[in-house]
Amino acid sequence: MTHQHHHSAPALHRAAAEGGTRGAELLRRAGCRPTPQRLEVLQALGGGEHLTADELYERVRGAVPTINPSTVYRTLEVLEDAGLVRCADLGAGRMHFELARGHRHHHVVCRVCGAVEHLHDDVLAPVAAGVTAATGYVLDTEAEILLPGRCPACADAGGTRTETI
Ligand SMILES: [Zn+2]
Ligand SMILES: [Zn+2]
Repeated sequence: MTHQHHHSAPALHRAAAEGGTRGAELLRRAGCRPTPQRLEVLQALGGGEHLTADELYERVRGAVPTINPSTVYRTLEVLEDAGLVRCADLGAGRMHFELARGHRHHHVVCRVCGAVEHLHDDVLAPVAAGVTAATGYVLDTEAEILLPGRCPACADAGGTRTETI
């Protein structure tokens, strides 16, 4: 039985997805000048997806045709420094960007199709307690854990061993 958490979108996500004045306000409060490319990158992440820099470039290019990949990288660095965006390691060579969240969260990643779900501490607390009981080690409170597996759809599709990551 998997435990899935479906939170209503956090305020940051709503403001980012809305873009325009709300997005500009978000950037100003974080100490960033609201440029079109920053607004577009925030908006692209506002849906709560985990996107690579290349995927973000493809999306932002629709709205800002003059943008180039290095601008997207620089924009992501600025947004990361401002605490609005974070980089999540979703396994071998899969660096993804997502909007920052107020709390730590872990990822369960489908190694067949790449789908991602968030897991929160309530799910992993018994695991952490088990690790401490078995080894005496206390897990770092800031550490985020990546769990590879198969999503419900791919598990249903039945034991194909095609691995994409
Ligand atoms: Zn899958
Ligand atoms: Zn995430």
